[in-house]
Amino acid sequence: MGRADNTGRDAPSTGAPEKTVVDQPPPEPDYPRYRVEPGSGTVLAGVDPGQTEHYRKKKEVLKELEAQRRRIGDLQERLYAENEQGLLVVLQAMDTGGKDGTIKHVFGGINPQGCRVSSFKAPNPEEANHDFLWRYHKSAPARGRIGIFNRSHYEDVLVVRVKGLVEESVWRERYGLINEFERNLSRSGITVLKFFLHISRDEQKRRLESRLADPDKRWKFSKNDIKERAFWDDYQAAFEDAINECSTGHAPWYVVPANKKWYRNLVVARTIADTLEAMDPRFPPAEQGLENVTIPD
Ligand code: ATP
Ligand code: MG
Repeated sequence: MGRADNTGRDAPSTGAPEKTVVDQPPPEPDYPRYRVEPGSGTVLAGVDPGQTEHYRKKKEVLKELEAQRRRIGDLQERLYAENEQGLLVVLQAMDTGGKDGTIKHVFGGINPQGCRVSSFKAPNPEEANHDFLWRYHKSAPARGRIGIFNRSHYEDVLVVRVKGLVEESVWRERYGLINEFERNLSRSGITVLKFFLHISRDEQKRRLESRLADPDKRWKFSKNDIKERAFWDDYQAAFEDAINECSTGHAPWYVVPANKKWYRNLVVARTIADTLEAMDPRFPPAEQGLENVTIPD
């Protein structure tokens, strides 16, 4: 991988962070299995949304999740201090897939100053008058920062395709434009990581039912979610293509089994922590001659 613009350092191998942070990738936990290698063909059918490796219940992962959160917090501090590289985390999922819960549980331990969450709904009139990448580019993280996209530029090849909001020739061309956009970010020192939180159709039904049944969750329920559910297969096909077309060495997609929320959180946290470690952010050197400095009374 080439040298990132202006950063004076080689961009990390984000396509395989585990190879950078350990000599021998451990046999388990084995999250690289969820990374989509460029050109690997059918992806969603190959990942069981209910999978949890050897873990059986939430209790078994809580300590490790906490350790991963701490790693993310420590590495984020270095990233901020170094101010040369940034990280963009893209979260996509079917409705109820757990984007909000992932943000809450994975990033709970980091300094809010160095991190920004951007959520994308249908474009407002101003956004719609620009090229489709405009609003995403504006929200991309600066060097030193972590940006989290709750929905993202991928909506423009997902909902836009499923709902026929533009012609096929237009959304098809966007795969290439998205790859170039992410390549540009990566060349500027911004590492891009993309997660598809993969739930099953049955699990979505359970989650919608529980939102409906629980008065404290009912505010999250939207009748529109039922309408969208009818397009399940179309959305899955759109995700399949987007992931296949846009999983690249510089900006990989991960398909994360997400029926079990605790396992989903663990996989995402582990991947982000290892990627940040592979980026190897360093505290800047201290000023010269500090040994003799005393603080006046
Ligand atoms: P929650 O999990 O709280 O429901 P959400 O992200 O689903 O959060 P909603 O307001 O329910 O938020 O949904 C946002 C809607 O905006 C989605 O239906 C999404 O498909 C749509 N949207 C996002 N980006 C675009 C876009 N570029 N063009 C058209 N629609 C879009
Ligand atoms: Mg919604």
